Amino acid sequence: SSLSKTDILKMAEENNVKFIRMQFTDILGIVKNVAITVQQLEDALDNKIMFDGSSVDGFTRIQESDMYLRPDYDTFTLFPWRPDEGGTVARLICDVYTPEGKPFSGGPRNVLKKALEEAEEMGFEMNVGPEPEFFLFQLDENGEATTITHDNGGYFDLGPVDKGENARRNIVLALEEMGFEVEASHHEVAPGQHEIDFKYAPALRTADNIATFKFVTKSIAHQHGLHATFMPKPIFGENGSGMHVHQSLFKNGENVFYDGDDRLGLSKTAYHYIGGILKHARAIAAITNPSINSYKRLVPGYEAPVYVAWSSANRSALIRIPAARGNGTRLELRNPDPTANPYLAIAVMLKAGLDGIKNEIEPPEEVLENIYEMTADRKEKLQIESLPSNINEAVDILAGDELIKATLGKHVYEHFVIAKKAEWDAYRTQVTNWELEQYLTTF
Ligand code: GLN
Ligand code: MG
Ligand code: MG
Ligand code: MG
Repeated sequence: SSLSKTDILKMAEENNVKFIRMQFTDILGIVKNVAITVQQLEDALDNKIMFDGSSVDGFTRIQESDMYLRPDYDTFTLFPWRPDEGGTVARLICDVYTPEGKPFSGGPRNVLKKALEEAEEMGFEMNVGPEPEFFLFQLDENGEATTITHDNGGYFDLGPVDKGENARRNIVLALEEMGFEVEASHHEVAPGQHEIDFKYAPALRTADNIATFKFVTKSIAHQHGLHATFMPKPIFGENGSGMHVHQSLFKNGENVFYDGDDRLGLSKTAYHYIGGILKHARAIAAITNPSINSYKRLVPGYEAPVYVAWSSANRSALIRIPAARGNGTRLELRNPDPTANPYLAIAVMLKAGLDGIKNEIEPPEEVLENIYEMTADRKEKLQIESLPSNINEAVDILAGDELIKATLGKHVYEHFVIAKKAEWDAYRTQVTNWELEQYLTTF
């Protein structure tokens, strides 16, 4: 790491740090933290901080609940906002370890690190750039979130800078203070919808950034009297919120997806990576689109992918190849949404791509037509499959994909499936407003 223990202790002192949040992520992608005081920082840097793993969803059983947090020194960051009194707050992102000193197999960050090790053995470094989208909604008089937006005008309206634009600007400033490189931020298609794009960075750093980004966005929005939601489809009939993931592999500082001699400027390695992602796409969906609501977004007509196909041009495809070439050559996977656990999502995408490279999986022909408008016959002729239509189907498809299961490891896979099956059961037994409107008076 580029920061030493002494560096961190010095930075903490110079910045009047009083509390440090030891941050990690559970299997379902929820960010957790244990706060320590600056007096414990040295112990924390020596990996001596313990927590009770049995109180974290899906981590451990009561009998074996002691877990250790090993901070990644490079993630030491000051929070740009301060509590009213008591000095600055800093954070360290941690890996979860067992009392025996082994990486805990239920820790999502460990799962990603393992996948990255395999890429490294093949000589590759993975770069990832995400485009998370979210809505900013008003709070009601009790401070509860609503689905009412502040700008019913929409995408092209030019008016006085509204509350949402102000909040987004401050979110970007806070992220930059925390070391993020924000490439662009803009209003999205739906009223109240925004997007913040990160510049590509090594995969682990990007996963850490996505986890951090979500709570930073929520807290700054709250300071503006707004609620930020990463729920994929909060409003029926409007675009949902995705998190496109741009990905590329580098070898010795060179992008190995680029080949100037190819018609599209893509290397064999790039085509095989695409082939691998397409092969595993339907199983991966359980991880990249893990909520009930995720599948309300993946429907035709809202710029979200529905079919398993790739294209150098059209945005109805699952994989698009953005125009940049040279070191900017990359593919954009368009189905992930911000409810995905970023560590697990990047791990499964990478392993699917590496499978394509190892086994030289050729992707099918690219699809240049708008797939939303294709007839069923035409789709069948081109053998274009659909993504799963709900999380239950996605989990069943995942169960048949040994490579993706192995990537998650037994612990994460089993706990994930238990949680998702329970979520599905709770959902499928609900009686919804839609049903009441359809049937109450008809029958
Ligand atoms: N919101 C769209 C989605 O659900 C994406 C829109 C865009 O970025 N072009 O994926
Ligand atoms: Mg975008
Ligand atoms: Mg977008
Ligand atoms: Mg995009």
